[in-house]
Amino acid sequence: MKASVGQEAIDKKGWLGAHKFLLLRRVSQLGILALFLMGPLYDIWILKGNLSSSVLLDTIPMTDPFMLLQSLSAGHTPELTAIIGALIVFSFYFIFGGRVFCSWVCPVNLITDSAHWLRRKLKIRASTKLSRKTRFWVLAMTLILPFILGTMAWELINPVSIFHRGVIFGMGLGWVVLVGIFLFDLMLVEHGWCGHICPLGAFYNIVGRYSPIKVSAYQRDKCDKCMDCFTVCPEPQVLKMPLFGEGKGYGPMIESADCTNCVRCIDVCSQDVFKITTRLPIMAEVKQ
Ligand code: SF4
Ligand code: SF4
Repeated sequence: MKASVGQEAIDKKGWLGAHKFLLLRRVSQLGILALFLMGPLYDIWILKGNLSSSVLLDTIPMTDPFMLLQSLSAGHTPELTAIIGALIVFSFYFIFGGRVFCSWVCPVNLITDSAHWLRRKLKIRASTKLSRKTRFWVLAMTLILPFILGTMAWELINPVSIFHRGVIFGMGLGWVVLVGIFLFDLMLVEHGWCGHICPLGAFYNIVGRYSPIKVSAYQRDKCDKCMDCFTVCPEPQVLKMPLFGEGKGYGPMIESADCTNCVRCIDVCSQDVFKITTRLPIMAEVKQ
């Protein structure tokens, strides 16, 4: 009988070794929330604002470029600091992978990861079919609607903003949206929200399309086909060709911008098939 998901990795690397990156991600997600909260709660202003627009140490502006685009579409003229802030954030995710936002920063990931964990525990296999491209249509709509309506309509229901504002100022009816996402992922569509619908995830997917930091299945010949990485990966379709593709053009690098660089695949692989690597020739020594 097959051991539970990740058990072989735990047996080989120990519990901590097999959850290293998962724990680091939780520290990052909760740590960022804590930094924002320290201002209003304890008057320690390291990060002022919210995930859409903030200032680090009263000096470095950070603006969500997706929000800036919605604002431009609505006909608003942005301040120079907002543009500089958006360039800073854009550059960070361009380098480290756009969807690093999803796996290391976004608080909604805590909800969608929990739904997927519970799905596995309850052995819920049924999942309504929905194209993963839907998110790009939603993204287009969130950028067109402000142009028509003159207001950033998406920001009124954006669960990422709702979560963030809710933690700082009180959740109000925001719970309805967040519980809805949890139930949607649990009962209706596996990886439903983040993998199929969220326009912010789709936006950061585009930002990170040519990111130099990638995960590679560099020792794919060692793969024992336990499929644990497929089970835990939020975008399992990205693993197929790097692991099993053969012939010219099918290298071990996970090229797809859908990959969130969550590196959970490294955690759960008992055969050490994966590692973080780079496309840059200048860093050839760490390349696949
Ligand atoms: S897809 Fe959207 S909600 Fe999910 S983690 Fe990414 S930004 Fe957050
Ligand atoms: S391939 Fe690995 S790093 Fe990429 S999303 Fe899947 S588990 Fe995360």
